Amino acid sequence: MSAAQGPGVADLVIAHGLVVNATGRRRAHVVVDAGRVTAVVDAAEPVPAARRVIDATGRVVVPGGIDGHCHVAQVTGRWRTLDDYAVTSAAALWGGTTTIMDFGIPRDADETPLEAAANKLALAAEARCDVALHGSVVDWDETVPAQLEELARLGIRSVKMYMTNRGSTMADNDTVLKVMREMVRLDGLTYIHAEHDAMIVDCTQEHADAGAIGIGHLHETRPELAEEASVREVLAMAEYTGAPVYFVHQSTPGAVDLVAEARARGLEAHSETCPHYLVLDDGVYSSRFPEWYACCPPMRSAETVAALRERFADGSIHTVSSDHSCYDLTQKRERTDDIRQMPHGLPGVETRMPVAFTALAEGWDGADAHDGGGLLERFVDLFAAAPARINALPGKGAIAPGFDADLVVFDPSEARTVDGAALHMGTDFSPFHGRSLRGWPQHVVAGGRVVLDDEGFHDPGPVGRVVQRLGYRESLGAALAVPAPAAPVAAAVPEGV
Ligand SMILES: [Zn+2]
Repeated sequence: MSAAQGPGVADLVIAHGLVVNATGRRRAHVVVDAGRVTAVVDAAEPVPAARRVIDATGRVVVPGGIDGHCHVAQVTGRWRTLDDYAVTSAAALWGGTTTIMDFGIPRDADETPLEAAANKLALAAEARCDVALHGSVVDWDETVPAQLEELARLGIRSVKMYMTNRGSTMADNDTVLKVMREMVRLDGLTYIHAEHDAMIVDCTQEHADAGAIGIGHLHETRPELAEEASVREVLAMAEYTGAPVYFVHQSTPGAVDLVAEARARGLEAHSETCPHYLVLDDGVYSSRFPEWYACCPPMRSAETVAALRERFADGSIHTVSSDHSCYDLTQKRERTDDIRQMPHGLPGVETRMPVAFTALAEGWDGADAHDGGGLLERFVDLFAAAPARINALPGKGAIAPGFDADLVVFDPSEARTVDGAALHMGTDFSPFHGRSLRGWPQHVVAGGRVVLDDEGFHDPGPVGRVVQRLGYRESLGAALAVPAPAAPVAAAVPEGV
């Protein structure tokens, strides 16, 4: 298609694609100017004049992904993740994610929550995509309320706490309860890593005493019951304080169901899962390279994975985030004899879209973008719309006039095989190496800039912005204008294609 010039000519049009939001789909031309979507024009109309036109005929156009759970330049004990903001954000764009959310986690008792967040804000100046932050509290003291107020003023409206990792990042119950109360006062959201610490410590010690503490035993040391017991306890504290709560990386159907039951009785509770819990099971710990899969919670039984996937499809799980933690094999292999000494966490910001899409679209070949059941809408909700809504990110998560021009074009029928060494994260492996996946971005537009196209990646430089988040309840009002959640896959009625 030819490029146009002159006044009234848009920067970019993505023409003739199937434009999918969490609320529905239509064939349309998406018009972009000055970094925002300015119009979505029915595909029966002529293509509006633009300096660049991308032909998306036969392909799907979705909002840029929002990854609510990434660890960038994370220091945990003696380990540091290997990528910085420049690398993580570029890898995110390669993978169709245009906003990443990182955590300001105090690295030790000398660093305050505010200092930890300020350090991340400074590092984020190198980001190629947009960034939003979560705070974190490990120890309560009388300065915490004022620090949380200051975080809110900086647009950081959530706080993550760990129920395990005794002696490093764990917050005790007094701290969790008091922070929840502060987050209610400040209209914020409490993020929780839920694993019952006493059970984990006891079970790990039992395995160590029996000499079964190498990586091949990781899944045995962190039972499903420990996750569910912690979810139960945290939900009770959320009910007591009235705090909205978000559970990161839920890995069992039991944990997801506890959150669903809590919602049914009126709590504001959310479930996140990660791509690896949807496609990998605990058989990986007896594979040739068990160290590729060192993360907490660990991979679960095949039966659990199948049940989790049902909840992924039926709407019980709200978001899919990578929990991106970029260690390499040298770090992973140093102490495979003792899981207590290993760095835990998987690289995944780049592969989140294809792994999640493939898990959701199993059994559908993607032909003609006809999925017959709202599958594309469900995908958009998990990948972009729900993370924007729950984390109160204005202008994100939908393709509509006034929203940021964060757009991904893909062909749902195109499969590629993952080559861990060819990805763009700051590591040398992928836990998904060798898998055939669908849902790879072909064009990515971030803030109106085309960063990925047929010619490859175009590094936009350090243009990422830090998104000023709204309050949790504030965003439920009209201010955000994000669409309502998609209906479960089976119940949704797609428009004609
Ligand atoms: Zn994490």
